[in-house]
Amino acid sequence: MTKWVYLFSEVAEVEDRVPDWDAVRGLLGGKGAGLADMTRLGIPVPPGFTVTTEGCNAFQQADETLPDSLWEQELEALRALQASTGKSFGDHANPLLVSCRSGAKFSMPGMMDTILNLGLNDDVAEGLVARTKDPRFVYDAYRRLVQMFGSVVLGVPDEVFEAVITARRRRAEVESDTDLTADDWREITRKFKEIVRTYAGTDFPDDPVEQLRLATEAVFRSWGGKRAVAYRNAAGIPHDLGTAVNIQAMVFGNMGDDCATGVAMSRNASTGEPHPEGDYLINAQGEDVVAGIRKTLSLDHMRQAMPELYGEFVDIARRLEKHHGNMQDIEFTIEHSKLWLLQTRDGKRTAQAEVRIAVDMVEEGLIDRKTAVRRVQPEQIEFFLHPQLDPEARKAATPIATGLNVSPGAAVGIVALDADRAVQWANETNRPVVLVRPETKPDDVHGMLAAEGILTSRGGRTSHAALVARQFGKPAVVGVAELDIDLTTREIRVGEKVIREGEFLSLDGTLGEVFEGQMPTVRPDISNAYLSKVLDWADDYRRLGIWANADYPGDAELARSYGAEGLGLARTEHMFFEPDRLPIVQAMIMAGNVTDRAEAIEKLEPLQRADFEGLFRAMDGAPVVIRLLDPPLHEFLPAYDELLRDLADLKMRIQHYSTMSEVDSALNDIRHKEDYLDRLGSLREANPMLGTRGVRLGVLIPELTAMQARAIFEAAVSCIRDGVEVRPKIMIPLTVHANELRAQQKTIVEVAKAVQEETKTEVPYQFGTMVEAPRAALVAGELAEVAEFFSFGTNDLTQTTFGISRDDAERGFLVEYLRRGILPENPFTSIDEDGVGALIRTAVSAGRQARPDIEIGVCGEHGGDPKSIAFCHTAGLNYVSCSPYRVPVARLAAAHAALADEAAEEATEPAKAEAVVA
Ligand code: ADP
Ligand code: MG
Ligand code: MG
Repeated sequence: MTKWVYLFSEVAEVEDRVPDWDAVRGLLGGKGAGLADMTRLGIPVPPGFTVTTEGCNAFQQADETLPDSLWEQELEALRALQASTGKSFGDHANPLLVSCRSGAKFSMPGMMDTILNLGLNDDVAEGLVARTKDPRFVYDAYRRLVQMFGSVVLGVPDEVFEAVITARRRRAEVESDTDLTADDWREITRKFKEIVRTYAGTDFPDDPVEQLRLATEAVFRSWGGKRAVAYRNAAGIPHDLGTAVNIQAMVFGNMGDDCATGVAMSRNASTGEPHPEGDYLINAQGEDVVAGIRKTLSLDHMRQAMPELYGEFVDIARRLEKHHGNMQDIEFTIEHSKLWLLQTRDGKRTAQAEVRIAVDMVEEGLIDRKTAVRRVQPEQIEFFLHPQLDPEARKAATPIATGLNVSPGAAVGIVALDADRAVQWANETNRPVVLVRPETKPDDVHGMLAAEGILTSRGGRTSHAALVARQFGKPAVVGVAELDIDLTTREIRVGEKVIREGEFLSLDGTLGEVFEGQMPTVRPDISNAYLSKVLDWADDYRRLGIWANADYPGDAELARSYGAEGLGLARTEHMFFEPDRLPIVQAMIMAGNVTDRAEAIEKLEPLQRADFEGLFRAMDGAPVVIRLLDPPLHEFLPAYDELLRDLADLKMRIQHYSTMSEVDSALNDIRHKEDYLDRLGSLREANPMLGTRGVRLGVLIPELTAMQARAIFEAAVSCIRDGVEVRPKIMIPLTVHANELRAQQKTIVEVAKAVQEETKTEVPYQFGTMVEAPRAALVAGELAEVAEFFSFGTNDLTQTTFGISRDDAERGFLVEYLRRGILPENPFTSIDEDGVGALIRTAVSAGRQARPDIEIGVCGEHGGDPKSIAFCHTAGLNYVSCSPYRVPVARLAAAHAALADEAAEEATEPAKAEAVVA
């Protein structure tokens, strides 16, 4: 018979049944596993039991009915709970109250619903009043049960309940819920039951056992609810994990001033500083802290107000950190000066905090370096590169309000006051949006994802807004009490100021500041000591080299400072586009005779030489791959149609001329323009992407190749003379046949010889090719007889392999293909391993066979994509080259790929050992 239910104290039995702790978490859910684990550690946890996620899956599969014997097992566990607490469920004299809490394998903040105080009815409530002599507490607890049960199980809108409380407060003329009396709560409870009857068409169940059963089913059902499904989609959590249900004896933080409840992180979740941080409330029940209904106090306040309990809490937090080797997110409640732990889990944190905590924990001996490197995700590094408010502009401005800095980075955008509008404006206006709400709820997640940043007037460091913002790396400022957000007039008032929806706001999530208008932003400096440490450790594990693509010395320097070990692609065509050069380039291409062409080429040479010198000096001895001109020809030339129109104009205008000399000069002009158009016409191509691109122009105009080679060698000589080491690598683009390489090589070798003789300086260099057409990959063996290195241009290789234009990758049929799942993934984002990847593997193996020491890299956009980097690692490439800003991401991703290999080996080793023994 399947065991569906485990007491917290039965964790060893669960461990016997499944292979590892991860599977324990899978079966009991994160919350249940954490509670059981804490129980075993001897940490004070109210007793309880867990109904497994298997139960949930069985429930879902059986059209929402509980599987055989599950309910009987739950009742049996309830009896055990009664025995261990000495209380009895539904008993008048000494009642047991329990909470019913959901908990999936991965925490999904606020997604699934919890019901507190199950076990109350009119009779039990009166018994509890007699026992506690605290009717106010009892009826506050009772109305919470009716309210939570009503909304979670029976689907009554929560606002209706809140409206009743507000009305009652107004009648009693009090500000806060805590000022309401026992009679108020008794009356409210009665009203709540009426509301349930009216809205749900059924009575609130008086039978505690009935309450328990309906609550269990409701939690299982909520796994399939809209909110939960949307969250799992956004967070990439599989849909078949299911949630567990935890039934736990209640402890009360709302029985007086020696009671409290709180949520804390064992370290600062925004910055990673090694001190516990959190929010708590005296005389309150769990949900109040997270809901942001009452203004919370900080943990520092608790240190003053309850020093001993604070000390005990900090000790437990430290033990839990040590046990998990990770920062913990902890819920606690104090009932009459006794501390209880209600939850622990790995805390969500910003990228900044992730990195700092990983480094600190290595230094504190809690984890090793590999764990630290594995823990930081390549995507998180991107958050370091999130824009910050421009420091100059920042200095000149005064914030209009400040709040809690819960998620760092700057967000500048137009104000949207609800989630749907945020999504709509972000999609339709293409303008950045800042979502501004009094507080956020799970229903708002889609808007939060669409927004650049989040601002709320309520809530603390552990509010929903703060948690979600941190998880998705959205800058956020919460709890800005000065903000008066009016959802009816659609405006925000801050003192005298009024900001209407649709107007710009700027947020600084790092400092918790709010500014009017649209502030400029800048890329941050990432020479953060913690980050460099993690990246240095990553460098020890990775086997792939990380190079960068850069066309300008400034970019090359930036790449160097981020740790690039070489320059994998300098595109020379960018150098031809500069406004002072383009006319010369056009003259060269359009030249009618050899002399004109030679003249234009001569003018370009010194300009190019200076470009290359700049790159060599910036890379300071590291290899520099210079790709010779790769033109789609039409990009350099004036538009044919426009010139045609000009010519027609000119012909029309001739009738207005009066003197003979005017007419003569116009005729001359027309002839000249017609000639030009003729030549331009002969260069026109039906499909420029498949036209005179890449090496083809260099084959047609060898002088051009010679000029570029001369510029490279002269630049190298000039650097060498200044004592700068240089390692130029000349790369031929879009090769499809070895003969193209031979032709180009001949030209380059001649120039190399000449320059070296003229200058009496030896320049070490290499000659290689891009592989970016299927044919090149298939004949890579022949290419490698000439080429000393390969670089996969995966943008073009993807385009030519699929026959899909890369310029249309963001629109048209490809989008539709992705939406319908015809293509599982955009091949321009992550390397298509089956197709493009197969060509790469073929080329690598043929290339290495022909030339064992051939150096092979990738220089497309894919070079900065973690998934593609993992592929490049397995395919045995020497390096990947990506944009400077992605270099840190790539360093970490390459380390992850290497560590994944290692983990896979370790996993197979015991199997091997067993095989040997057998
Ligand atoms: P969530 O996953 O939304 O955090 P929880 O199940 O953790 O939901 O519970 C919501 C709140 O109720 C938390 O503040 C928690 O500490 C409190 N709570 C849950 N069970 C109990 C209990 N048995 N006694 C006291 N407070 C509880
Ligand atoms: Mg919780
Ligand atoms: Mg290309």
